[in-house]
Amino acid sequence: MSKTARVLVVGAGLAGLAAAAALYEAGFQHVQILEATEKPGGRIDTTRPFGPEIIELGANWIHGQEGNPLYSLAKEHGLLHQDPLASIMCLPTSVTPEDYFFREDGRQMDPHEVEQICALFGRLTARAFSSELEDRFLMKSLGCYLDEAFAEETPAHSTPEARQIFEWCKRSECTDEASSSLYEVSVSQIGHYVALKGGFFNTLGPGGYQAVLDVLMRSFPAGALMCSTVVQQIRWMPDGDAHRGEAGPPVKVICEDGQEYDVDHVILTASLGFLKERAHSLFKPLLPAVKSRAIESLGFGTVDKIFLQFDRRFWPEDCAGIQLVWDQGPEDAAVHALLSHGDAWRDTWYKKICGFDVVARHPTVLCGWITGREAEHMESLDEEEVGDVCVRLLRTFTSWPVNKPMQVLVSRWRHHPYARGSYTYVPCGVDAAREHRALAEPLPSDPMSSGVKPLQVLFAGEATHVNFYTTTHGAYMTGVREAQRLICYYTDQQVAA
Ligand SMILES: Cc1cc2nc3c(=O)[nH]c(=O)nc-3n(C[C@H](O)[C@H](O)[C@H](O)COP(=O)(O)OP(=O)(O)OC[C@H]3O[C@@H](n4cnc5c(N)ncnc54)[C@H](O)[C@@H]3O)c2cc1C
Repeated sequence: MSKTARVLVVGAGLAGLAAAAALYEAGFQHVQILEATEKPGGRIDTTRPFGPEIIELGANWIHGQEGNPLYSLAKEHGLLHQDPLASIMCLPTSVTPEDYFFREDGRQMDPHEVEQICALFGRLTARAFSSELEDRFLMKSLGCYLDEAFAEETPAHSTPEARQIFEWCKRSECTDEASSSLYEVSVSQIGHYVALKGGFFNTLGPGGYQAVLDVLMRSFPAGALMCSTVVQQIRWMPDGDAHRGEAGPPVKVICEDGQEYDVDHVILTASLGFLKERAHSLFKPLLPAVKSRAIESLGFGTVDKIFLQFDRRFWPEDCAGIQLVWDQGPEDAAVHALLSHGDAWRDTWYKKICGFDVVARHPTVLCGWITGREAEHMESLDEEEVGDVCVRLLRTFTSWPVNKPMQVLVSRWRHHPYARGSYTYVPCGVDAAREHRALAEPLPSDPMSSGVKPLQVLFAGEATHVNFYTTTHGAYMTGVREAQRLICYYTDQQVAA
């Protein structure tokens, strides 16, 4: 039966491709992948805007090595950069003396002080990630916990400079959490996220993440993937359907171009952002309340990149990145409180840019990082305006001679109609494990008691993983997980027969 079962995979990101590859490898012969955009990859977007070398507009690194199937796959196929840690984003936990920190008055900060505060920040966040927090912190946001824990540290850490560096650390951590602010993120829940051992920033070789997609796509026939095909509605049968009869395929999938598919199973891999916007019209009948609650309560934030290509390098050769430390940045507790209401934050959206890192294989390109509502605002501006703002920042902070960039390229993940953001985070008050699991639960929820066909709609994608949400390997694993669910289902049936 598994060979004849019809399976439709919605979405050709890592989760969808992994699911299809696993099903084909297990002998399923009728697996079709429908992808809304004109190319596979989803939140992996390997491009070549500045010449032959790649730029990653979406995912860039493989995070962790031990137990990471994508790291193993990349290693096995020789896809890793010769120096696997060739490019590293400047986060509090990865700061080195090659990261130049500047104040807004143009002075470079003492690398020793930067390192000390970043190390303290790393220790405080590690405590939260290892779920070792005292009870008094558990109901707080990550931002509030960090402020209180920081204030309790020795007075040496409470100079204005120390607090400004600490603000930068919080701002930078927003990229990992994909949140507008750490004051929105639940501190008690981030312990569910598991960082795999081995380097965090494993860099891919000249083919970038596209080369990983290519390996997966070699596992199934070219005709299995249909791009530029938007799934508009998934009609499933929670209670049986007299019109279609018990013997027919239980799910009908209707596409925007009018194509229809009658299938036994759908594996849906659309992002949480897409589900937040479209779940109400995507499913007929509507999703059960538990599933809708998961979609609403988990957060889906925006992280964007700003690439600036210059005619020449104006930063020193040993400089890995230029970090911007404001007197009062947006993650400063007082500023955050002040900007919580109203629209004033729009006037200073650029303060959310953490800094500009160098880019592997591009000696004259810098990559800026921006998150949250400020990133969404940036997406509404044209590239020239964003470039002008960045040049002004770089000139003010470094006092170096900075030319106008030759090209500016920004990602627009929030505006992407089939992503609607970058990745998942856990807001305050949300039970993360419960909601990730609810999102992953197949439909119908209780096929035994309702007597309908089981596993009609299965859910994969980064947001459905309890421990590896946000990551590419998390997405990959959920695709394999759902394929495995079907493989087991048909294997059990064969054994029973
Ligand atoms: C800026 C940025 C940087 C990142 N950096 C990293 C990193 O360095 N390392 C890391 O591990 N992770 C990173 N991530 C996260 C990582 O990219 C994602 O977790 C992962 O790619 C998600 O894969 P997915 O298959 O779950 O979803 P997606 O990649 O979103 O795939 C879903 C697919 O479904 C399609 N789709 C949606 N709706 C429909 C529809 N109605 N009909 C048909 N098709 C549809 C979409 O077009 C898309 O192709 C980053 C993400 C971003 C945005």
